[in-house]
Amino acid sequence: MTASHIARNLSGVRQQIDTYCAQYQRNITDVTLLAVSKTKPAELLRAAYDAGQRDFGENYLQESLDKQQELADLDINWHFIGPIQSNKTRAIAENFQWVHSVDRLKIARRLSEQRPTDLPPLNICLQVNISAEESKSGITVEKLPELARDVATLPNLNLRGLMAIPAPADTLAAQREPLAGLRRAMEALKAEHPQLDTLSMGMSGDLEAAIAEGSTMVRIGTAIFGARDYSGQS
Ligand SMILES: *Cc1c(COP(=O)(O)O)cnc(C)c1O
Repeated sequence: MTASHIARNLSGVRQQIDTYCAQYQRNITDVTLLAVSKTKPAELLRAAYDAGQRDFGENYLQESLDKQQELADLDINWHFIGPIQSNKTRAIAENFQWVHSVDRLKIARRLSEQRPTDLPPLNICLQVNISAEESKSGITVEKLPELARDVATLPNLNLRGLMAIPAPADTLAAQREPLAGLRRAMEALKAEHPQLDTLSMGMSGDLEAAIAEGSTMVRIGTAIFGARDYSGQS
């Protein structure tokens, strides 16, 4: 993967987003592309940045902090999208603009307490488990209203919306079903929290389904950076 591949892949993904937005009567300015760069070296992120990409999603804290240091000269919005252990909240609160993977009040409280007050509030999406049997991460739709109510009161967080990672499915209809569930959960939540504006859903394999169901932030890794190699990870 070289810089020119990245630029070409990015423009291909942007074109797909435009096409699906036209097809499903969505406004293209309502869909943000988050480039998911986990396991990818800093120079590939820099290539994406040079091709106009500003939002990057990362799953592994230490790996991301290393890259943030290497790319400190760039004006990047960093999004944390991986599972969060309590002992990592301080570094996350200090070094990211967004966290998409909050599913417990304890973690939210720590992020709020540890967010430096000279920074804007940390943008938060609550991770919802919409395909219950597949994943241990995410709060259930039933428990979501209570968590949202509690998180909305935390002073250094800005509750923005919901995130989900559905189980993989082959057909467009099967992909749309859980994403429609997240959209409905968001609509219900907006009665109490009208400021919510972010539906973080859609990956390389279900981009069309996500845009059809109202995603405002698609998290795309493989289609931009190529397949991931985990063999070097500990
Ligand atoms: C890795 C990852 C993605 C990107 O997945 P691709 O299939 O490579 O596009 C999106 N969201 C989350 C939470 C991820 O961990």
